[in-house]
Amino acid sequence: MTIERVLIVSSPTCEKDKTQAGVVYLATVLKDLGLEFDLLDLSGTIDYFDPPEEFFSPCDSEFWRSSRIFSDFTWLDQHLPTTYAEYDAVFYSSLFSPDILIQGRHALNQKHHFPNSLCIVGGSALSCLDDQQLSVVTSIFDFVCTGYDIREMISAILQEKPRLPKSGVGKHIRTNGNVFVQPDYRLVDVRRFVTSYSGHGCEWGKCRFCNSSLNCGIFCRPIPELIDEIEQLAGLNGMVKDVMLSSDSFTEDYLTSLASSLSDRKSKVPYNVMLRGERWVSNGLGDKLRKSGCSDVFIGAEALCDEILSVMNKGLNTSSILNAIKALSSHVQVILGLILFVPGVTEKQLNEQLQNIEKILPHVSAIEPEILTVIQRTEFAKEPGRYGIQLWAKEKAVNDSWCYGLSPDIPWTFTSDRDARTWFRYYEKLRRLTQGFVEPHYWDSIDEVQSRF
Ligand code: SF4
Repeated sequence: MTIERVLIVSSPTCEKDKTQAGVVYLATVLKDLGLEFDLLDLSGTIDYFDPPEEFFSPCDSEFWRSSRIFSDFTWLDQHLPTTYAEYDAVFYSSLFSPDILIQGRHALNQKHHFPNSLCIVGGSALSCLDDQQLSVVTSIFDFVCTGYDIREMISAILQEKPRLPKSGVGKHIRTNGNVFVQPDYRLVDVRRFVTSYSGHGCEWGKCRFCNSSLNCGIFCRPIPELIDEIEQLAGLNGMVKDVMLSSDSFTEDYLTSLASSLSDRKSKVPYNVMLRGERWVSNGLGDKLRKSGCSDVFIGAEALCDEILSVMNKGLNTSSILNAIKALSSHVQVILGLILFVPGVTEKQLNEQLQNIEKILPHVSAIEPEILTVIQRTEFAKEPGRYGIQLWAKEKAVNDSWCYGLSPDIPWTFTSDRDARTWFRYYEKLRRLTQGFVEPHYWDSIDEVQSRF
């Protein structure tokens, strides 16, 4: 069987006003290979920040990491179309774990109607799963792709296809961390917000909760390629309102060169970046960023107290982060990212953090207080006892245990309830102090945690 008719299925958790980068990359590679495709747009099907109850599941649920989820969960059909068409291959682009459930159910239905359809899934939702989780996913998809090189993935699929085992168990294709595709946005319906791939991984890469550099190392896309892409987006008659660069962090050299190149080209496309609060983040850099079109910068501070930063091994101190925020804030909007529920912190440390937040409030436009997630293969997951973390919590779970074990997050709780009480007291004060700076869904998820204690 040769592949002629192809369907791309987008992520159900991707917001309606966002252009999903994975779909653009897939479309580009398929076109280069001379393959025509249709797009099934599932974006906006479920709200990632407020998904339906059914997606939540405790880790002692009978469906935890079970391939029965795809066959038994008929309720997933309400998120899917009622009709199916014949395709030689269906490519699913998956951003977050609910996507795996919904797209897995679609693949099951597709194969029910058309058993010869090849079903292939890839995307960030798959990249941090362990072997047991991947075996659940390969029970339904013919190919499960992880890594960044879409062209290599598709070539591997075309080579492997005739050798597919009859057992019905899919194959895992893993590629390296380099990206060689120049995306063609003319192939998709471009929305207001675009995530542009600028690279992945992090030079620091040692925060104990973070998996940024664990999968495919560090990669920085060559600046001329990124500039060409942004110019292509600028040519879309102002349709694009904001471009988010994908990198978790930047080096000083890369960011300065990027800003200079965009300024030289007189780029008018607004973009935003994520940065560490490094010493080198200065007024001058803020000015360069603004002149190059940067509208806002997310500073993933995580904490504004040296002892808490050291528990997370952030590799920065509070004064450096505060200086970075102040320096940028005269030029661009600054969003402050915090991580709550870090174990082993004291009331005194949290009060100090509160004072620092109060000082920096005039310089930030928004605050995003996230609950600590413990992700597979990170330092917190490898040595939980050392940090006051108990993994696989069946009760009083601090993070959401959801999607039937198909998320890289491990359900966890504190080894000491005292930590939880300290954080809940702090939460009340933080909420009062930062009124108007925080989107309500952040508070809702903390309320949800509190209700379990
Ligand atoms: S949290 Fe940020 S700074 Fe820390 S390792 Fe991850 S990407 Fe790097």
